[in-house]
Amino acid sequence: MSRFELTIWGARGSIPAPAAANTRFGSDTSCVELRCGDHVIVLDAGTGVVGCGRKLYNGEARDIDVLLTHCHFDHIIGLPFFMPLYHAGTQVRIHAGHFEDDTTCREMVERFMCPPYFPVTPKQFAADIKYCDFRPPDVLDLFPDLRVRTVRLNHPNGAVGYRVEYGGRAVCYITDTEHRPGGLDQGIIDLVAGADIMIYDSMYTDEEYPKYRGFGHSTWEEGVRLCRAAGVPRLVAFHHDISRTDTWLADLVGRAQAVFPGTLVAETGLTLDIAERVRIVEAS
Ligand SMILES: [Zn+2]
Ligand SMILES: [Zn+2]
Repeated sequence: MSRFELTIWGARGSIPAPAAANTRFGSDTSCVELRCGDHVIVLDAGTGVVGCGRKLYNGEARDIDVLLTHCHFDHIIGLPFFMPLYHAGTQVRIHAGHFEDDTTCREMVERFMCPPYFPVTPKQFAADIKYCDFRPPDVLDLFPDLRVRTVRLNHPNGAVGYRVEYGGRAVCYITDTEHRPGGLDQGIIDLVAGADIMIYDSMYTDEEYPKYRGFGHSTWEEGVRLCRAAGVPRLVAFHHDISRTDTWLADLVGRAQAVFPGTLVAETGLTLDIAERVRIVEAS
């Protein structure tokens, strides 16, 4: 099959965490790039999307689908700095489906890129932009060979989980969501069942979780339970709290792999080859 690759551009949650102690796992907020043959998908537009956009622009990617989980700042703050938006001759489709009212994707971008909060408005985009609204569990057939399934997540103001299917393989991106202790989220299990990989909101540990009930986030242990229940061999712990240092996250790798050997901890620059049943290509 042709290539199916995943690259992490930002793995933090809430706000960037630049610090000397965070150079390995990175400081940028949520952004994951998928290359599905010639198709380009960008999951979320946190600060990580800035570097991603520069690479796509220089690599002459001229047709891009941006799938937003929701519009909390850590998932959209990089969008105004996404270079392909300012290049005539590029097509960018921005998808959002988390709204709990009749807000549209276009309205969300216009309200957020707007003085006095930001001087540049979407009118200055030079690319051909399409705003695409959907409602989970809609299925998005982006191309004949590329299907995206969706599920509503449990998060303040709403969020959407995605399953991207290409070439007989599937990658799931499940952030931000809060689990309900005592029972797994059946909607998530149904979405991720049999996938090759699940990127999952691992903001907290089970031990910490009771202090953060209602904050809208989950734990890496819940990610393991979901993977086991849904037959997913590979978990990528994602959306790291800003307090997590390289030392803490490196320790998590060992602790999590002792419980579920298929666990990886997301770090900026990590590339996984999904077509090869998940092989680590490079890690910064
Ligand atoms: Zn977040
Ligand atoms: Zn959020």
